[in-house]
Amino acid sequence: MKEIKFNSISKTKNNLEHLLHLFLDYENLRKKVFSLKCLENLQPTFPNSKLYLTHSATGALEMVAQYIGIKPGDEVIIPSLTFVSTANAFVIFGAIPRFVDCDPEYLNISVIQIEEAINEKTKAIIAMHYMGHPCEMAKLKEICLKYNLILIEDAATGFGNNYQGNALGTIGDFGVISFDSTKHISAIQGGLLIINNPDCVKRMDNIYHIGTNRNSFENCEVSHYDWVDVGSKYQLNELNAAFLYDQLQQKETIFSQRKLLSQTYDELLRPLTFKNHFRLMPLEMIESNIHGYYIILKSKAQRNQIQNELKLQGIESFSHYRPLHLSPKGSSFANSNSCPNSSFISETLLRLPLHNELNVSDVENVCGIIHKFLD
Ligand SMILES: *Cc1c(COP(=O)(O)O)cnc(C)c1O
Repeated sequence: MKEIKFNSISKTKNNLEHLLHLFLDYENLRKKVFSLKCLENLQPTFPNSKLYLTHSATGALEMVAQYIGIKPGDEVIIPSLTFVSTANAFVIFGAIPRFVDCDPEYLNISVIQIEEAINEKTKAIIAMHYMGHPCEMAKLKEICLKYNLILIEDAATGFGNNYQGNALGTIGDFGVISFDSTKHISAIQGGLLIINNPDCVKRMDNIYHIGTNRNSFENCEVSHYDWVDVGSKYQLNELNAAFLYDQLQQKETIFSQRKLLSQTYDELLRPLTFKNHFRLMPLEMIESNIHGYYIILKSKAQRNQIQNELKLQGIESFSHYRPLHLSPKGSSFANSNSCPNSSFISETLLRLPLHNELNVSDVENVCGIIHKFLD
């Protein structure tokens, strides 16, 4: 049987041409033509926001942590079921993460448990949109307003998804997106910072340029650029921008194929759930689902058996985030709450292959094996 890989980078048409364009004329590199083209392409999706292309979503979160002035002892509210960057970006500046469990249905941060975790040291809430499905942003905004907290969206896996018609990343004070090779639109490595308050732009410009006012220099407002703040080299590498630009231009094709594959999984597996009690992604996620496809089994043993069965047939499948509150580093923060849903999900969730080199018959093969196993 044909091997089916879990993930792959979408092969777009003009990548080599774009790279040549950079190599053949130094001016193109100096002017960062592809970064500019990427920003032009992205801006209509985030019409009222200021955008920064970064070397990663991790880097974009660090820019936010630096901007909001996280200092030792500050607390940030973070879902336990997320990638390590969500917490680490704040912890490197001295923050203490307060882990909150996920809601059992959408696997996003459980809003009803947030208020218990707030105290006078709390600075921010990080809303991570699991698989690009939006958190309950209206309620989160309300809580942030009530306690005067900063709302940051980790939309690392949310590019192309919306909340009430607004792109993910534009609803909180700040948002980040990842263009890593593990995500559906990729620069191989890259990210995006989204700033939703124009007052933040001036200083963020400096943080982005290693603490210099390089941006003012480029706009001919000053004759030299100087060291004016602390910052780092958060920018996206131009080679990565050249790669990203081709993906952005072809994003609609990439999205629609992934939606089709996800819908195919749903159609083929949904009949099985009635008698076998395993869970699929909620139906309302399926229509707009582009990042990944998962199922939730009854137990860790059952999950591992299916994963093994698939592996024997040459099909890769993976679990997902390991809950941070149980990790060696995360559990060292004494205030950690227990997060039973996050623990259960990390033991029972299985992600199935979803990428642009798959076709419907590959998905049928994967589902056929699951049918044989569970029927
Ligand atoms: C992938 C991911 C990140 C990190 O993105 P990078 O671009 O690799 O830094 C952060 N948060 C979440 C939820 C992710 O899935």
